[in-house]
Amino acid sequence: VVHWLMKKFNIPLTVLSHLGGHSAKRTHRAPPDEHGNPVPIGFLIMKTLKDYIDSTLSNQITVRTGTTVTRLLQRTDFRTGVKCIYGVEYRIRADSASKEKETLEADAVILTTGGFGCDRTNNGVMSKYRPDLLGFPTTCGDFAVGDGVLMGQEIGAELVDMDKVQLHPTGFIDPKNPGNPTKFLAPEAIRGSGAILVNQKGERFVNELDLRSVVSKGIIDNCAEYEGTNSKFAWCIMNKATQFLFGDKVLDFYKDRLGLFSVATDLADIASITGCPLNTLMKTINEYADAEQQGICKKTRKVVFPSSISVNDREFLIARVTPSIHYCMGGLNINAAAEVQEIIPGKVVGSHRHIRRLFAAGEVTGGVHGNNRLGGNSLLECVVFGRIAGFRAAALNQREGFDSGCLKEEEWTLVDLREVRNTDDKYGRNTREYRFNLNGSLQKTGLKVGQFIAIRGEMDGEMLTGYYSPITRPDDEGVIGILCRPDYKGGPIVKLLQYIRPGCILEREKNPEIWFLGWWNWGFTYASDF
Ligand SMILES: Cc1cc2nc3c(=O)[nH]c(=O)nc-3n(C[C@H](O)[C@H](O)[C@H](O)COP(=O)(O)OP(=O)(O)OC[C@H]3O[C@@H](n4cnc5c(N)ncnc54)[C@H](O)[C@@H]3O)c2cc1C
Repeated sequence: VVHWLMKKFNIPLTVLSHLGGHSAKRTHRAPPDEHGNPVPIGFLIMKTLKDYIDSTLSNQITVRTGTTVTRLLQRTDFRTGVKCIYGVEYRIRADSASKEKETLEADAVILTTGGFGCDRTNNGVMSKYRPDLLGFPTTCGDFAVGDGVLMGQEIGAELVDMDKVQLHPTGFIDPKNPGNPTKFLAPEAIRGSGAILVNQKGERFVNELDLRSVVSKGIIDNCAEYEGTNSKFAWCIMNKATQFLFGDKVLDFYKDRLGLFSVATDLADIASITGCPLNTLMKTINEYADAEQQGICKKTRKVVFPSSISVNDREFLIARVTPSIHYCMGGLNINAAAEVQEIIPGKVVGSHRHIRRLFAAGEVTGGVHGNNRLGGNSLLECVVFGRIAGFRAAALNQREGFDSGCLKEEEWTLVDLREVRNTDDKYGRNTREYRFNLNGSLQKTGLKVGQFIAIRGEMDGEMLTGYYSPITRPDDEGVIGILCRPDYKGGPIVKLLQYIRPGCILEREKNPEIWFLGWWNWGFTYASDF
């Protein structure tokens, strides 16, 4: 998606940053504009895509702002229990006092309502899953109250990792309004440029480039509360070299426009502003400089030193930073096609299925980031799954063969690789399931038990063909999977499959094409998922 954004929309994701918890520089962002002003990357992506919709797709897409979706419209097939979404109920915000609601019917609904980081209610999502975090400030917008999660839950969608809520270690405390529960974020790149964190004694206590969870815990365990608040806080110190690396113009925004930094001429000035003993501060800086020389800080295990610091430095910037709720790793469970999942009651194996016509992408989803999201990965996830969700939602209208099956005897069909699953636990060592999208999201293969498919694809001018029994069920919708060994025992077609990356829907020029020939009778037993 990075190349897609750069090539198709000219978004200059040309700057690579080393963010906390990463082992290398790998986060793409845009350089400052021609006046040296910062370009917030989320804003840039959103604005570019919105401009594209306004200019190129305005006759196909209607954007309704000022509306609050309140419910998903759903039908259940009482024979099979399969749920199907057919639209939403919503309220015009200006009318929020009135109970009147309107409905909008749709072929598909994609939920992109964000997380629940700003839910401060006593009986809300945060209080249910992480009551211990209710007193923490947040960097999230006041709309992030978990509406999508609740609407999904109401119709039986599965929620995953709901207790995994990320604290960002560096929400700025504004000295003019320290009790404000909403904080401006001190971007990850501040620490990535070499800013150090000290406690009220003037001591460093953590590797500033460690995971957000580790740095947040470091502040909570080692620092004092900011006066008049319940927030533990650290002093964030930037010398000239760090300021330069981060971008002076960008810092001006936080310093001059928002008043979130104090200026200190030298270490003695830092001591008088922060109340930290000067001797300890000098010792801390000297130890840090030594650690940089040795390539490791033995106390905090820091090994990357983005910029050098010395007790003789001048013109520091210092800020007060506090752990703040920043991101919700939990949310609606989706599969690799961005389809929202539900648990089939009473099933142990093959226990999930998708809720028809309901997709989700972005922070409303759960399970994508594990215990703790790395910086930069949310916008990445939004674009990856947003694109897949849009593509699969649009593919709902490909109804051809919906009942009879979309693979035709003696006819080749072009397919996309959806995902590669490691199935060592299920089918034995060194096995993989390759799952392909059928062209329509609700199409079925039409294969019967015992029927096989042929797969072909061209590599280096050679046409490779293989024959496989699908591992997915004949009535699975929108997907067909085959089981392979990714080594020499997998046969020549596996060589080809290894060159195909999942999700490369629109980048066919870079990928070999895969075609399915449906179907092929070999009379072996159908290898079912059960
Ligand atoms: C200060 C800050 C800085 C960040 N920086 C980065 C970064 O540099 N890199 C990175 O990868 N991630 C970053 N993140 C995280 C990332 O920005 C978010 O996770 C991401 O924007 C989530 O996108 P989303 O589209 O899923 O939801 P959101 O951006 O939260 O958007 C949700 C939208 O849904 C609307 N909505 C909610 N409920 C309803 C409803 N019932 N009806 C109608 N509309 C509704 C909201 O009004 C909102 O417009 C940052 C987050 C914050 C708070």
